[in-house]
Amino acid sequence: MTDATKTLCPYCGVGCGLEVSPPAQPGKATNRDSKGTPIWKVQGDRTHPSSQGMVCVKGATIAESLNKDRLHYPMMRDSLDQPFQRVSWEEALDRIVQRFKTVLATQGSDGVCMYGSGQFQTQDYYIAQKLLKGCLGTNNFDANSRLCMSSAVAGYIQSFGSDGPPCCYDDLELTDCAFLIGTNTAECHPIVFNRLRKYHKKNQHVKMIVVDPRRTPTAEAADLHLAIKPGTDIDLLNGIAHLLMRWGYIDSEFIEECTNNFPAFAEVISHYPPEVVAKICGIEEREIEIAAQYWAESKRVLSLWSMGVNQSSEGTAKVRNIINLHLMTGQIGKPGAGPFSLTGQPNAMGGREAGGLSHILPGYRLVKNPQHRAEVEQAWGLTPGAISPNPGRTAWDMITGLETGDVGLLWIAATNPAVSMPDLVRTKAALMRSPFTIYQDAYYPTETAAFAHVLLPAAQWGEKTGVMTNSERVITLCPAFKPPVGDGRPDWEIFAEVGRRLGFADKFAFKNSAEVYAEFVELTRDRPCDQTGISHERLHQEGPIQWPCADSSINNIDRHNSRPKVLDRTPKRMYTDFRFNTPDGRARFGAYHSRGLAEPADPNYPFVLTTGRLYGHWHTLTRTGRIDKIKQMHPNPFIEIHPRDAVGLGITDGELLEVRSRRGRGRFPALITKAIAPGTVFVPMHWGSLWADQAEANALTHPEACPDSLQPELKACAVQLLPVRNH
Ligand code: SF4
Repeated sequence: MTDATKTLCPYCGVGCGLEVSPPAQPGKATNRDSKGTPIWKVQGDRTHPSSQGMVCVKGATIAESLNKDRLHYPMMRDSLDQPFQRVSWEEALDRIVQRFKTVLATQGSDGVCMYGSGQFQTQDYYIAQKLLKGCLGTNNFDANSRLCMSSAVAGYIQSFGSDGPPCCYDDLELTDCAFLIGTNTAECHPIVFNRLRKYHKKNQHVKMIVVDPRRTPTAEAADLHLAIKPGTDIDLLNGIAHLLMRWGYIDSEFIEECTNNFPAFAEVISHYPPEVVAKICGIEEREIEIAAQYWAESKRVLSLWSMGVNQSSEGTAKVRNIINLHLMTGQIGKPGAGPFSLTGQPNAMGGREAGGLSHILPGYRLVKNPQHRAEVEQAWGLTPGAISPNPGRTAWDMITGLETGDVGLLWIAATNPAVSMPDLVRTKAALMRSPFTIYQDAYYPTETAAFAHVLLPAAQWGEKTGVMTNSERVITLCPAFKPPVGDGRPDWEIFAEVGRRLGFADKFAFKNSAEVYAEFVELTRDRPCDQTGISHERLHQEGPIQWPCADSSINNIDRHNSRPKVLDRTPKRMYTDFRFNTPDGRARFGAYHSRGLAEPADPNYPFVLTTGRLYGHWHTLTRTGRIDKIKQMHPNPFIEIHPRDAVGLGITDGELLEVRSRRGRGRFPALITKAIAPGTVFVPMHWGSLWADQAEANALTHPEACPDSLQPELKACAVQLLPVRNH
């Protein structure tokens, strides 16, 4: 009998299985961190089908974050210039409920907003939806997933009729050609990349194409790196489609029988011959031809993308253009093929299932759809019309709502918008104006805590039980293996308690998180993300299960193999019958010309800044900034700049550069490298004001968003560069 608890890594959407053991075990030396403090022991779970025992440095060191800089108890203050005072839960909840009642009476339910997180477990998401969208009648719940993958959601819905990545990780080892666009998978989804790289190395015929303005570690491993100019993805994708069409490498039968709108798409791509595309994208014609040739010659093509595509003012169009390539070649619904978005947060997928964005409802339903609203109202025992037909405020709309005084109560949980939102100068000014901000998190201090009136201590990963869904739709039970630090409580319990105190006791009469999940799965019945065959008990007994799963007798994970796999006997892939979730069952082509960057370089701001992530760090350093090994790996922020631009500015490696945009400025030591193209610079987005002085990437970025997904273009803005010695 082992004391190890099987759970999921709480960092990224790869969703690696972990085994966690107590620091001290009979007959074994006590496990300690570098300072000698006993810590829980973490290792990869070899029986988890997604990761097969592998972990990256973040997962391997996660236990170190359990006891560092935790928020132990509720705290309050009347105004932001006062110090926090420790209070009891009773006092904090009384104040919160009183403020809710005031705002509901004076501003109506749309005066209330909650900004949540892909760090939530599905239960946290679900109870928050029930409270805001159901009981209070406002759809003002959004999550940091809005900044991460809402373009993928919108793209899937527009092309296929519903959300949901149709592929699985086994496809990484079945494909003939991996097409990676806007994803530094090697650093941001390391275990997905490990699987792909091993397979690619072993199989000579397998091609890997990487599209990225930077020569990232991912690009280093590719057969073909297309270093396109930022913002030219749509042109490139149209150019590849143009050649596939010209060469006759299209699946006419699939197009005819399974899709709509191909003629409009064909007309658009006719304008993108390689000589035109090469000029727009800043690459060679031959490179576009090789990319198209790899697609054409491969029986199975798998596309992977993440924020490089999604964080764009035309993110949905980019996603649809990736899907277009799969539709025109019939590369979907079969092993090793399909358009596969990688989610950033560990449970962004669970959030999508539970309705965790301001335009969606649980079970892949849409706020705008009257039937969907009625189904949820009935399930929640609400009067017809209780759910608002209007999509709520997005993350950025909450900021503008604070500016205009339309938001009277902002509840932020498990995320750090004072680092991660665009246009941080404006964001922070808006947060300063907030009449009442509740900040619920496991850590203190954080940059966002500085803007709170009430701080609530949340139970952390390992201190609460719930489920999470990873990028390949595999659901894993994440049990509590230790009590919360201090007075910490699970997020969903805090939301439920506030719901009860607001007069909705009957809606939140859950004894435990298993009951919450059981209620939620009923809302997935007969929906694309059906998980009615899954329960906490099954997950505990059988381990992870992939959705859709409506049959409680089928588990499609094979654990009898040394490398557990998702089996073919259940729908491990979506759309294997080539029928889609649209009213006529056909997928839809999108037809797009690019609008380019929302803020291109110009004579005053002559460089394009792009932002991204580093292998060891996670988002805004809330956890990884407190882990010694990772801090040593990535001690400081920096700016990557091409040698030619460095010569032009007269700077040497390590010299401080001031970076200015129309919104803000920051100072970063120069890292001179040919990994970045001339005219483009790169800054990692991780560092906030708590960790480095004037080194916030998002002080520079802008909030212009995709009109369909409302996801801001965090990936690119125009900047000027000034050596600090001159100023
Ligand atoms: Fe955790 Fe992602 Fe690393 Fe896996 S790849 S160990 S899920 S951070």
